[in-house]
Amino acid sequence: MANTKLYDESTGRYLPIQYPEEAEYWESAKKHRLVVPKCEDCGHLFYPIGPVCSHCLSLNVGWQQVSGKGRISSYVIFHKAWAEWLKPRVPYAVVQVELDEGPRLTTNLVEAGPEEARVGLEVEAVFETVTDEVTLLQFRPRKPA
Ligand SMILES: [Zn+2]
Repeated sequence: MANTKLYDESTGRYLPIQYPEEAEYWESAKKHRLVVPKCEDCGHLFYPIGPVCSHCLSLNVGWQQVSGKGRISSYVIFHKAWAEWLKPRVPYAVVQVELDEGPRLTTNLVEAGPEEARVGLEVEAVFETVTDEVTLLQFRPRKPA
């Protein structure tokens, strides 16, 4: 485990466990870069992070930096705060984002009200530094170019 704390006393937030095979992901997040696993045999990009290609079952897996751009493919609005620190955020959107490169991941919609969440909404990655060890990936609506 790369991180030593699973709870941040200053904010009351629970922190994700960082497994060794995810090290590249977490280090990239600190630099505000999004990487996903890439199969070196068939080229498939996938998520969640794991040691085996979800397309061809190869163990020859590396990393690929992706654009951080995608679209909401599903979402749910939470009206109950499941932890104390979430109380000021209720209601909030938890969204599934399909990256332009294909993988889908579950994340938060930020810089937007939950009423703005809809399937097809164009979003882009933003990174929140929570602690020295944990930088979280989230998504916000894409601004017009
Ligand atoms: Zn593969």
